[in-house]
Amino acid sequence: MRRQILAASQLIRLPGSWAGSTRWMSMTAAVPSTLDEQLANAPWLQLLQVPSAGRGLFAATDIEQGMLLIEEAPLLAAPSPHAMDCTCHHCLRPLAGSSGSTSGSKGTSSLRFCSPSCDAAARQAWAVAAERCSFGALQQACRERAEKFPLMAAQLACIQVQRHLGLGSSSSSSSSSSSSSSSGANPLAAATAAVAEAEGPAMGDPVTQLRHLCFANMPDVPQPWTELHQLLLQGLRPLSADFKPGGDVSSSSSSSSRRGSGSVSPEWLEQQFGIEWYCDTLARLHLNSFRVDTLPVHLDPSDPSALLKAAMAHLSDAGSASHRTGSAAYLLASMLNHSCEPCLDVTFPGNNAVASFSAARDIARGEELTITYIDGGQGLAARQAALSWGYGFTCRCPRCVEEGGAEAGSSHQ
Ligand SMILES: [Zn+2]
Ligand SMILES: [Zn+2]
Repeated sequence: MRRQILAASQLIRLPGSWAGSTRWMSMTAAVPSTLDEQLANAPWLQLLQVPSAGRGLFAATDIEQGMLLIEEAPLLAAPSPHAMDCTCHHCLRPLAGSSGSTSGSKGTSSLRFCSPSCDAAARQAWAVAAERCSFGALQQACRERAEKFPLMAAQLACIQVQRHLGLGSSSSSSSSSSSSSSSGANPLAAATAAVAEAEGPAMGDPVTQLRHLCFANMPDVPQPWTELHQLLLQGLRPLSADFKPGGDVSSSSSSSSRRGSGSVSPEWLEQQFGIEWYCDTLARLHLNSFRVDTLPVHLDPSDPSALLKAAMAHLSDAGSASHRTGSAAYLLASMLNHSCEPCLDVTFPGNNAVASFSAARDIARGEELTITYIDGGQGLAARQAALSWGYGFTCRCPRCVEEGGAEAGSSHQ
């Protein structure tokens, strides 16, 4: 187990939240796939309508400081454009050494995974399609513009393509056929084998669940979005050659594998992943994604001094881009509203994209559970500007009200 801290929230309350989360530490437990299930499994949480913010999570009981309230695997997780070589493309764990294990046997893939189980889980969900795409130009443009969400959108598109093709999406019945199909180049066989092996962190279903997340209306499509969308479509195009009707793949002899509809045409790609789909996806990712910062230090969680050293290393290196490994979107956690004085700490105890939210202080029953969306170390004006620009609201949390009152008071004197 390793530890990492969400730098966006500037939460470095190491001993308290770590001690709390060990009580609930169960990284291998299955993560419920729907919000209802998640809430049913966490009776200390209550989802309520909030007049100004739509909905929010509240404490259904008195909560002690340090208690782990939410532990959630992401719906979607993707490395930052600059961290693609040193980060697992499935779980965002930093890779040991410089390169890590590349996926597949062709040697041309740019996909990297920390373990066979992440490799298998990614193949089951999206990597079989992604390997056939050419996202080089999109990745380059994202690197130049410091954009990360188009890469998450590309991963979402690959998930939808694999489902359309019947690759890997429903895992229960198909594993028995994996040993009989031996044609190594056949993506169906690869995906089916992956289904049998997949046991990485269980991810939610982004295709249906991303639709539950907040959405900002985009009256006009920004020009950079149009350009990046074109690059995304371009990157998907090789799929229509690999999975064409009557082509090698669908006519292959692995009859025991399920095939779905088995083909991807250029028209289907344009229709599925048009500019409306792109804007809708990007708008939701912009509002709901968390930055995942992992620590490159390997730690023994039973040694508190190691954790403290890691926190210090993280603090002293806070400006370094090397730790900002990726972004992830969550279902339950996306229901948490913002406060500049949040009552939850956000951490990544597994040093991957599985996020833990624990009580930063004692919380009374009925209190809203909050996180901070921005750098809480900034002054009032900077915080308000960041929230207004990035999230479209004016913060009226107790801290803002108090600081605003103090400022108004002093300016009237
Ligand atoms: Zn991994
Ligand atoms: Zn505030």
